[in-house]
Amino acid sequence: MVRAACHCGAVRITMDPAPVWVLDCNCSICRRYGVLWAYGSDPIGKTQLSVDLVQGADAVEAYIWGNRWIGFWRCKTCGCVTHHTALDQPSTIRAVNARMFVNFDPASVTIHRSDNAHTGGFWTRPDAPIRKGGQPPMEPPGPDDWR
Ligand SMILES: [Zn+2]
Repeated sequence: MVRAACHCGAVRITMDPAPVWVLDCNCSICRRYGVLWAYGSDPIGKTQLSVDLVQGADAVEAYIWGNRWIGFWRCKTCGCVTHHTALDQPSTIRAVNARMFVNFDPASVTIHRSDNAHTGGFWTRPDAPIRKGGQPPMEPPGPDDWR
């Protein structure tokens, strides 16, 4: 099981089991959001994950774009994009933004890239060097802190 939360903690989602892959899509909106999608219904792994919005149903609002069949949900307080739904099934979370995951090792998933921009360009590149961060470390989160 993996937990996901927006930054302020108002929105909390669980996925069980933890996903084994995430989707990096470079379409016009996913690129701007910087999201990585973990799908509840997994056409690649052919598994069905249990996805539950355990807190924050009233704390989110949707951005509905383009062909108007999908809603991108964000926290009304901190703005984090947490998940998306098909508008004809608003209570079923299609995918969770894996960047909201808590205590999750990104190396444990495969990243599948979908070239919906038709440019071949992606920001997630495993060949890119990792530089040491300049920000001080945060205090370890308590059990109720899903960051
Ligand atoms: Zn929030």
